[in-house]
Amino acid sequence: MTSQRTRERLVQRLVDQGITNHAVLEVMRTTPRHLFLDEAMAHRAYEDVALPIGFQQTLSQPYIVARMTELLLADGPRERVLEIGTGSGYQTAVLAQLVDEVFSVERIKALQLKARQRLRQLKLRNVQMNHADGGLGWPERGPFDAILSAAAPERIPEELLQQLAPGGRLVIPVGADEQHLQVVTRTREGFETQIVEPVYFVPLRPGTEK
Ligand code: SAH
Repeated sequence: MTSQRTRERLVQRLVDQGITNHAVLEVMRTTPRHLFLDEAMAHRAYEDVALPIGFQQTLSQPYIVARMTELLLADGPRERVLEIGTGSGYQTAVLAQLVDEVFSVERIKALQLKARQRLRQLKLRNVQMNHADGGLGWPERGPFDAILSAAAPERIPEELLQQLAPGGRLVIPVGADEQHLQVVTRTREGFETQIVEPVYFVPLRPGTEK
């Protein structure tokens, strides 16, 4: 399950699907995805599929984690990054190895607590977590060089755009029945939007849960 060969196969699949950023591929090769799943699911950790993590939520498919991370890093390094939807903490762990500081917001407390333990186990200490509605961003910690959302709003919340630093970019799935991955860059003149590809994410939901 955790064998080197299984992980190499996953990375090869990511390459076949068009992921080219070497740093991202290397982090995906070495990050133990099985640690982010409950035992009953861990044997599927290196398949390129989304997997259940409880509370009707899912750990994103490796391809989409790699793709979003690559888009986030496309124009050079990012220092302060806001993540919306900590979930299992897997995407958080990937980001934490590629940027200076990660600020991760999750609306379900129980998921946040588990994710925090896993990151501690992996000795990833450049992550701050918040139990809150990530649709509002994390204004006290902004502005951010990049924002990545693992949950899809119907429309991009204005708060997220406002918390982007100049030159900063937001990588986010948008839409209800039909969703598309979008990259919004804050330029001197305003905001530039790029529609990347159709995706399927859990919805961004308001408020918080225990
Ligand atoms: N990156 C995570 C993805 C988890 S799924 C992983 O790979 O494990 C998306 C997560 O977004 C869920 O945990 C869900 O609870 C969370 N979420 C949904 N709406 C949210 C909101 N408004 N604020 C914060 N988190 C939210």
